Amino acid sequence: MKRLTRTVEAPQDLGIDGVVGVPEKAPLVLDLRLESVMEGVLVTGTARATAEGECVRCLEPLALEVEADFQEMFSYPDADDRSRSADPVDDAEDDEDRFFLEDGLFDLETVLRDAVVLALPLQPVCKETCAGLCSECGIRLDENPGHHHDAVDIRWAALQGLADTVQDGEKDNMGGAEPGVDEKQEK
Ligand SMILES: [Zn+2]
Ligand SMILES: [Zn+2]
Repeated sequence: MKRLTRTVEAPQDLGIDGVVGVPEKAPLVLDLRLESVMEGVLVTGTARATAEGECVRCLEPLALEVEADFQEMFSYPDADDRSRSADPVDDAEDDEDRFFLEDGLFDLETVLRDAVVLALPLQPVCKETCAGLCSECGIRLDENPGHHHDAVDIRWAALQGLADTVQDGEKDNMGGAEPGVDEKQEK
């Protein structure tokens, strides 16, 4: 067994497109544990990096620490040959999901990519309590506590008028309702 710590540059497009991700070439710190087993090397590790994106509520840029755990088996190429002859059908199906050592090296990129993307939030927020933007003027509410609009929005003004009419109508009906009307409406 062997433990390693490596800092590598983040590959391109490490993240969720247009939402949040680790910028290309940003440092990606890897803590790795390599275990030699019968069929290859079992790699267990943690990747740490700083992801950047923007808050889905207020659109401010944000940075967040990501920590992603992963584990993957990298098989010796000849281990595959042995199992293939034993059970060729099964192995062909598994092949896509398997990783192999090549000349004593393993390529972590796919494994890392999957782990980091899974660890990222789909809806990143600058903080849990972020109040977002005012729906009327777009101002950032966290920076403007108590912000509100006194003027009634023109789209609501019409409804306001309708509400007044309904209230007036109810008053008019009081005492003057015809008893027969309600029964007919129910049938
Ligand atoms: Zn925010
Ligand atoms: Zn506003």
